[in-house]
Amino acid sequence: MYKKDGEKMVKAVVGANWGDEGKGKITDMMAENADIIVRFQGGANAGHTIVNEYGKFALHTLPSGVFYGHTTSVIGNGVALNIPVLFQEMRSITDKGVPAPKLLVSDRAQIVMPYHILFDQYEEERLAGKSFGSTKSGIAPFYSDKYAKIGIQVSDLFDEKQLMEKLQKVCEIKNVTLEHLYHKPLLKPEELLETLREYRQMVEPYVCDVSLYLHKALKEGKTVLLEGQLGTLKDTDHGIYPMVTSSSTLAAYGAIGAGIPPYEIKQIVTVCKAYSSAVGAGAFVSEIFGEEADELRRRGGDGGEYGATTGRPRRMGWFDCVASKYGCRLQGTTDVAFTVLDVLGYLDEIPVCVGYEIGGEVTTDFPVTCKLEKAKPVLKTLPGWKSDIRGIKRYEDLPENCRNYIEFIEAQIEYPITMVSNGPGREDIIYRESSLR
Ligand code: GDP
Repeated sequence: MYKKDGEKMVKAVVGANWGDEGKGKITDMMAENADIIVRFQGGANAGHTIVNEYGKFALHTLPSGVFYGHTTSVIGNGVALNIPVLFQEMRSITDKGVPAPKLLVSDRAQIVMPYHILFDQYEEERLAGKSFGSTKSGIAPFYSDKYAKIGIQVSDLFDEKQLMEKLQKVCEIKNVTLEHLYHKPLLKPEELLETLREYRQMVEPYVCDVSLYLHKALKEGKTVLLEGQLGTLKDTDHGIYPMVTSSSTLAAYGAIGAGIPPYEIKQIVTVCKAYSSAVGAGAFVSEIFGEEADELRRRGGDGGEYGATTGRPRRMGWFDCVASKYGCRLQGTTDVAFTVLDVLGYLDEIPVCVGYEIGGEVTTDFPVTCKLEKAKPVLKTLPGWKSDIRGIKRYEDLPENCRNYIEFIEAQIEYPITMVSNGPGREDIIYRESSLR
C-alpha cells in the first residue's frame, strides 16, 4: 500500500488520461513528506488547481509543493520556461501570504521566447477552424525550436556575445516565415536581446545545475517528487497524436526532464479521475453531450470543469477503462490515485466505458489514432450511491455501491487503486489496501 511516510526515494505524480485529473492536489498532499518537488516537462499551457489553508491557486509553472516551508521547488531542464509568467506566479502566491518559495531553475531549461507565443497565435489563425485547440502559450513552437537546435537555454543569458549571435540566426529563420507565411511584423535581434536582459535579472538568483543538485540530494537520502503535467493521452509519442502536447507526459521522461537516473524512480502515482474530461480537439470515445454533460461539468472538480489556464469548458465523458488501463500501463503505475469521486454522488446510475467497438469487434486495448476515431464506446451501467462521501476517512465507511464502483474499475484497469480522493483539500484522502499489490 502507498505509505504516507514511505521510505525516502524519488516518486512521480503523473496523469493517466487527458490531464486535469487532480495531480496538483495529490502533489500538494504528497509534498508534505517530500524535500524537493520538480517540474520536468511542459509549460504554462496547463494548470494545476490547489486548495489549501492559504486559499485557492491555479499554478502553471511553479511546482505544486510551493506552499510548504520545508520544500525546494525546482524547474527542471525539460520545462518550457516562461520567465515572466514564473515571476508573476511567484508574486501571486506571496501576495496571498504564502512565504516566498525556495526556487531553483535549471541552467539547461530553455526559454519560451515572445516569438514562440506569437507563432502559436499566428498558426492558430492560419489554421482557423482546423486548429489543434492550442492554449497559445507558445509551447509547440518552443519545443519545435528546441529540437531544431535554435532554442535559448537559461545559461545562454549570461554570455551576451554568443546570445546575440544566436538571436541573429533565429531572426533570419523566423523572419522568412513571418514575412511570407503569416504576413506579420518582423523580429529584431536587438529588441529580443533587451527582453532577455530583463529575463536574466529576474532569473539570475535561482539558476542552478539541477541534475548535480539532485544527484547530491539523492546521495543525502532526500525525497524527491517529480510532478507531471497533462496525462498519458497527451504524450507526444503514446498519446492521441497529433492532438497531443509537445513534450512527453510520462513518468519515464521525469528522469530526463529532471536529470536523474531512471532507476531512481521507485514509486509512480498515476492520477485517474472518477469520470473523464478533456480539453482541445481529438477523439474522446466516452464523451457525453447535452444536459447530461452540462450537469457533470457544473458539478465536476471544485467549482466546475473549466480550464485552469483558459477558463474553457472541458469536454465531459464517463470513466474510460480502456484509455485508463493504457494510461496507467504507459506510466508504469505502482499506485493509482482515484480522484474527484465525491462528484458522482448525485447519479442514480453511472455508465462506465469498458470496451471500444471498432469495425464490429470489441477491444479493451487502446488503439492508434486512426482506429480510435472509429471507436464506439461499450458501456456498462453501475448503480450509484446517491450520497455525499466528502469527509469520509476510512475505506470501509464508503457506501457499498461506491466501493463496488472503485473495485469494478480497479479490476478493469488492472492497476492498484491505493488512494481515493473525496474532496479538493489535502486531507480529503482515503488510503486503501489493494489485492493487486
Ligand atoms: P491537474 O491539472 O491534474 O492538477 O488537475 P486540475 O487542476 O484540473 O484539478 C482538477 C480540479 O479538481 C481542481 O479544481 C481540484 O481542486 C479539484 N479536485 C482535485 N481532487 C478532487 C476531489 O477529490 N474532489 C473534488 N470535488 N475536487 C477535486
